[in-house]
Amino acid sequence: MLLISCPYCQETRPEIEFRNSGEAWLVRPRDPSTLNDEQWGDFLYGRSNTKGWLGERWRHVHGCGRFFNAIRHTVTDQIIMVSPSGTPRPSDSELQKLIAARESEMQAWHSGEIGFGGSAPGHDSKPSSAKTTK
Ligand SMILES: [Zn+2]
Repeated sequence: MLLISCPYCQETRPEIEFRNSGEAWLVRPRDPSTLNDEQWGDFLYGRSNTKGWLGERWRHVHGCGRFFNAIRHTVTDQIIMVSPSGTPRPSDSELQKLIAARESEMQAWHSGEIGFGGSAPGHDSKPSSAKTTK
């Protein structure tokens, strides 16, 4: 099960509470009327179709309802970063540091340095905050 941390709720929840809303950090043209049909079509439908790390918009539809950004690996489903909507895309060097840290965690997990007490790296093992009822 993919677990996703909502940057607003500060909780890690099952993916069924969320909806993927496509690629993140797309920049809308300032004046669409100046674009020709091909340029407008590229904006509307052209996506990177990345196999690997990709910035995506997600919405916590069964939680706070808010949109946020995540950097997810499209093959392994690992998520290395979530940020509130409107947060700038991390620079390439920041992204490389996050990826290197995740790969280091994965190597430690595969070598047995990290036991089975938690979940695999990339799947946040922090328990979500329990709600109590009185
Ligand atoms: Zn939320």
